[in-house]
Amino acid sequence: MRYPDPSMTDIPQASAFNPKQAGHRQFIIDTAFELRQQAVSQQLSWIDGVLFTHGHADHIFGLDDLRRFNAVMRTAIDIYAETVVLEQLQKIYPYIFRPHRNINPSFVATLNPYQVTVGVPFDLHGATWTAVRLLHGRLPIVGFRIETADRVLAYCTDVSSIPPESYPLLADLDVLVIDSLRYRHHPTHFTVDQALQQIDHLKPKRAYLTHIAHDIVHADLEPKLPDAVYLPHDGLVVDLEV
Ligand SMILES: [Zn+2]
Ligand SMILES: [Zn+2]
Repeated sequence: MRYPDPSMTDIPQASAFNPKQAGHRQFIIDTAFELRQQAVSQQLSWIDGVLFTHGHADHIFGLDDLRRFNAVMRTAIDIYAETVVLEQLQKIYPYIFRPHRNINPSFVATLNPYQVTVGVPFDLHGATWTAVRLLHGRLPIVGFRIETADRVLAYCTDVSSIPPESYPLLADLDVLVIDSLRYRHHPTHFTVDQALQQIDHLKPKRAYLTHIAHDIVHADLEPKLPDAVYLPHDGLVVDLEV
């Protein structure tokens, strides 16, 4: 593994990073275009891993900026995705995944890829994650079921239908985050009505609509949403304990 020479960068000293002292873990799902801006605005100074739902541009084009976390943390970053998505990342970012071929010794992200398989749970620092098959139009992608000791969250973005075999993995949720692009039909995303139908069917204790487009105005839709269904916003903190 290669890290930048500290004398050549403005990176903080290693003592700045101590996740065990901080007492909690931080994961990112997908690396959106605006990862850098979001990380700065949320004062995100370390991450314990990145999980990918699929390889569309709006979910992976912030990946290059993970190198700043390598520099601050002075460690590699574990990334988790289905094999097909890892292959896409390796094609799009050959300079990151095959750095020995780079003409110049550039400072690139240091990432440890791990495959995930739908329906096979894996442990990340005490939380159990399970990839859940979703359909994004005809494209098979994944959402995630995340179980802690006493809470269950599911994150299901970019979905237009849920295969029958996935419903058991979306049962008994404390919190569901679900795609709800806009009011009009879309071939690869749930509409607001379709998302609300899924919420009604799955009956999570709370639900948040995500991937919302600009024709959804918070002030218009929020008063019409059923109880315990919310429109999130950038920087929202969802406390699973309440
Ligand atoms: Zn997508
Ligand atoms: Zn998307």
